[in-house]
Amino acid sequence: MNNLLSKKLLQKCPVCGDTYNYSKVKLLEANDSYILSYFKCQKCGTGVAMKAIFIPTGMVGQAVITDLEADEIMKLKNNNESITSADVLCVYDFIKNEKDIIKAIQ
Ligand SMILES: [Zn+2]
Repeated sequence: MNNLLSKKLLQKCPVCGDTYNYSKVKLLEANDSYILSYFKCQKCGTGVAMKAIFIPTGMVGQAVITDLEADEIMKLKNNNESITSADVLCVYDFIKNEKDIIKAIQ
């Protein structure tokens, strides 16, 4: 059912307009709340990740054109190392206080 839904939502490549080969749509993750699927166009090589979220009144879908492969999407999704506000402030302080930033980076 979930993969069938992915195939219905992903019908044509948004870049070249080629009709997708449904057997190539990969279901990456699915549960009661959402499905995440991926397709790579065989004609132009464009990757599309699609997430459909089920809400009480229906469904909300979003598709993103990406150069990532399916396994890379899952690696990023499962990576718990996110950038925190402390990380951003640390970089800000470094840039603000470093006079010759190019030399410091080397
Ligand atoms: Zn295409």
